[in-house]
Amino acid sequence: MSKHRVAIIGGGIAGLTACLELAHHGYDVTLIEKMPTVGGKIRQVDVHGAGIGIDSGPTVFTMRWVFDELFQACDCNFEKEVDIQELSVLAKHYWQKDSFNLYADISKSAQAIRDFSGIKQERLFLEFCEVSKQVYNALEKPYIKGKRPSFTSMITQLGISGTKSLLHIGPFSSLWKSLEQFFPDPRLQQLFGRYSTYCGSSPYLAPATLMLIAHVEMLGVWSVKEGMIAIPQTIARLATNRGAKIITGQTALRIQTHQNYVRGVELQSGEFIPADSIIFNGDVAALSTGLLGEQTRLATPVSPTGRSLSAMTWSMQIPKSSFELSRHNVFFDQNYDQEFTDIFQQNRLPTHPTVYICAQDRLHGNPDKPLTELSTQQLTERLLILVNAPANGDQPPNDKEIAQCEQQVFSLLAQSGLEIYPTTANTIRTTPQMFHQLFPATGGALYGMATHGWMSSFARPSSKSAIHNLYLAGGSVHPGPGVPMAALSGRLAAATLMEHHALTK
Ligand SMILES: Cc1cc2nc3c(=O)[nH]c(=O)nc-3n(C[C@H](O)[C@H](O)[C@H](O)COP(=O)(O)OP(=O)(O)OC[C@H]3O[C@@H](n4cnc5c(N)ncnc54)[C@H](O)[C@@H]3O)c2cc1C
Repeated sequence: MSKHRVAIIGGGIAGLTACLELAHHGYDVTLIEKMPTVGGKIRQVDVHGAGIGIDSGPTVFTMRWVFDELFQACDCNFEKEVDIQELSVLAKHYWQKDSFNLYADISKSAQAIRDFSGIKQERLFLEFCEVSKQVYNALEKPYIKGKRPSFTSMITQLGISGTKSLLHIGPFSSLWKSLEQFFPDPRLQQLFGRYSTYCGSSPYLAPATLMLIAHVEMLGVWSVKEGMIAIPQTIARLATNRGAKIITGQTALRIQTHQNYVRGVELQSGEFIPADSIIFNGDVAALSTGLLGEQTRLATPVSPTGRSLSAMTWSMQIPKSSFELSRHNVFFDQNYDQEFTDIFQQNRLPTHPTVYICAQDRLHGNPDKPLTELSTQQLTERLLILVNAPANGDQPPNDKEIAQCEQQVFSLLAQSGLEIYPTTANTIRTTPQMFHQLFPATGGALYGMATHGWMSSFARPSSKSAIHNLYLAGGSVHPGPGVPMAALSGRLAAATLMEHHALTK
């Protein structure tokens, strides 16, 4: 009997995860990726064209258990395949000349908070850790690992203790309101509020439940020696070893359907890939705006909450600095609410952005080495600098705004003592317009729809679309964005497909 043919459109982490799992189970899988390499948002930029890539997408790697489980399910071992190290410092946070670290060890973080902000804040921090842990524990099984929970199904599954944990934080209030109640120190409100931007949302509009991201980070952050890109590359290699075919540099132009069943994918080259099932790993907005053809326009509902955040990034290769950067660094400005008013209400680049820097040559190895220790031979280091931006990349760029934002970013860094400057020789800048080109129909939104309002978490499409045999995977689909979450969505799409196939065999 011939094998069930699956075409996967998109080689992001979710598409690749589904590809590996299906190939491992003997399916005939073809993955189509429009870029020359797989990885999607997990991408590197090479400033000098000298083959030295700078991680210019995700850099904070959490929830490694997702990959441990995936690799185990495919009879291999994640840690053996990908060289990772747990970081002892989660991130360093700066307010001009003041700074402190959050550590993987909560007691060290508590001590740092006591030194930075006083004994009362230390106690409140420990309480916050306990509450965010309870929220995570309550939601892990019914939501994060759930197929596609509805509000009612989740309440049923939460049980008494889970419901109590959620009621304690006031699940209908915003993350910001909840943090105001926790921390009198506005700097700590800023620090923990920023976690909502991990799923592209404003802390002033995101539900309080997103405090669980703080707990996810406290469970561990890992660095990947060869860069984050090693994760998709490894998964692609393992899938190919299991017989999957990966086509890069080819855009899927149209999904062909017949009587609400998919038949195959038309490529830009004119080739037709026949398929019994298709998994779509692009942003679902590409389907609802008709980019993959009229027939799949109604495959998913249109997002009720609008686009998530985009970003402006500067990938830099510069002379190594003596400034004590950690691997992950966040520089805060004042007027935190202004950042989100600018982005979500004024639809403009922030006038006072929070600046994130990944210094990826720092602290891969022994976490106890001094922060500034780079190899003595190393003359340059690689930085990714990122600020949040509105997802208006489908409109023409505003050069004046871009210049103002850039000026503000580097002057904020200089106020903390980090004096670096972008030039065309040392930097490649990526704007929302460029992200829009990379990720079609998004306006440059990098995290699917925004998680704004407490019902938004239930509004993401599930792995099942309205078209038979068309499945969805990626950051715009349940359980949401972020490398591990998107990987989970890839696993869900593969599982749903295999379940349906088993029923119809
Ligand atoms: C700058 C930045 C920083 C981030 N930081 C973090 C972080 O620190 N930690 C974290 O966990 N997450 C982070 N994220 C989010 C994370 O990267 C994403 O949520 C995740 O990688 C999305 O994976 P995905 O499966 O949705 O696929 P995507 O990465 O969106 O890839 C989809 C792929 O589909 C391809 N495609 C689309 N349409 C077609 C078509 N018609 N034909 C062929 N191919 C097509 C695209 O080219 C792309 O390669 C960040 C993202 C960005 C951009």
